[in-house]
Amino acid sequence: MIRAGTKPLPLRTPPMELIMKKFAACALSLSLLAPLCLSQNAAAAEQDAAADAHQVVLKAGSQPSRKAGPKNFTGSVRVDPLFRAEAPVRTYATSVTFEPGARTFWHVHPTGQRLIVTAGVGLTQEWGGPVQVIRAGDVVVCPPDVKHWHGASASTSVTHIAISEYVKDMGARWMEEVSEEQYAKAPALTD
Ligand code: MN
Repeated sequence: MIRAGTKPLPLRTPPMELIMKKFAACALSLSLLAPLCLSQNAAAAEQDAAADAHQVVLKAGSQPSRKAGPKNFTGSVRVDPLFRAEAPVRTYATSVTFEPGARTFWHVHPTGQRLIVTAGVGLTQEWGGPVQVIRAGDVVVCPPDVKHWHGASASTSVTHIAISEYVKDMGARWMEEVSEEQYAKAPALTD
């Protein structure tokens, strides 16, 4: 209540400095909110895309086995496709079975490779290193661009799942074959 005879307080004009501070605070909060709005839009777009995507069960028996060609493999090698690289995923996997004596040529993978041995006893070697025995349950971690080969032992077959990535449509760069002399340096399997 304003009593008669009292003088109303004069309205204070805020100093310019305060106005500028408030403006700066407002601009800052807007600039912080803008990316939030953008990320919310992106998240919504992702949700829309996810709503259109569905899991797929690749049924056993739906992907025919094929023989690996003699251009990059020695001996009898069977490839069973598991999953293909589908953008944006670059990873692909195959199950590869090498008959006794069969092996890859020397090669490298642009982002490396993981081998999960699922059956039998096989061999692998990186350039300059010893031939190593690999058995069901072993996992071979091969770094990018490390020259190597893998395959069966001379007397037993091996099956491994190979997980690799494509870089510019290339999953492996193939080199010379593993010579009989190199292959013969494998240790005894019972060691
Ligand atoms: Mn390899």
